[in-house]
Amino acid sequence: MNETKTAVVTGSSSGIGLGIANGLAASGMNIVMNGIEAPEEVEQARKSLETDHGIKAIYSHANMMTPEGAAELIALAEETFGKIDVLVNNAGIQFVSPVEDFPDDKWQAIINLNLSAAFYTTKAVVGGMKERGWGRIINIASAHGLVASPFKSAYVAAKHGIIGLTKTVALEAAEHGVTVNAICPGYVWTPLVEKQIPDTAKARGMTEEQVKRDVLLAAQPTKQFATVEEMAAVAVFLCSDGAKSITGSALPVDGGWTAH
Ligand code: NAD
Repeated sequence: MNETKTAVVTGSSSGIGLGIANGLAASGMNIVMNGIEAPEEVEQARKSLETDHGIKAIYSHANMMTPEGAAELIALAEETFGKIDVLVNNAGIQFVSPVEDFPDDKWQAIINLNLSAAFYTTKAVVGGMKERGWGRIINIASAHGLVASPFKSAYVAAKHGIIGLTKTVALEAAEHGVTVNAICPGYVWTPLVEKQIPDTAKARGMTEEQVKRDVLLAAQPTKQFATVEEMAAVAVFLCSDGAKSITGSALPVDGGWTAH
């Protein structure tokens, strides 16, 4: 029987990260969850992973904005499970402003969380993966890792950057059974997106359906939000043997957005 693998998923207390944690748990992996919410707020989700999938799940409140937070998360995972087989760098934030007004602290926070955190976690785990001859690193980039939109300078820079990191580490690890890939979602239906809709509808004098189609999904040709379950399905596939020759890729899961 195959031994149980362990996956660390940053920013997995909500949205895409939680969806991926669920998908990997359903495929039989132990899960290290992470997020900035207090542990008691995440306890129900953590417990559900265990009861729904019969695996072990733990939660780390480490702040991935800092190298110390990244080290804390990896240390907890290794102390608890002995090794890390799958690393999903997912935690991310957004801020929107013209570049001339973009606050320096928001730039730095986005670069720290959306890009540098993946460098620190990758640096900490890739050596062990190479030694053991198996590993999967999955970076959640964005369609904004492939194309830009105005007013998102920090986010677009960080997401383009994480694709560069993905390709570089993929080349370094390629002969050791370790794949490194980026998933590039378009708009995904998460609580974060859902919550914006009533206010935007009010502000623009539109119906909620018009906001979804003509504002949020303006660039997404399918006119459909992707789901967190779809992101999870791609992550599970990338962890499978069938995907062992896929490395260094940036996979758009964006309803055709980047085909424009
Ligand atoms: P979300 O806001 O629902 O979840 C963000 C997660 O990150 C939460 O678990 C939160 O606790 C965690 N987090 C925030 N700050 C943190 C910190 N300092 N340290 C550790 N964890 C922290 O967001 P989401 O929509 O699920 O987005 C997840 C990822 O997917 C992000 O990298 C985002 O850029 C990317 N993405 C999202 C979409 C979309 O449409 N939702 C599209 C493309 C890419």
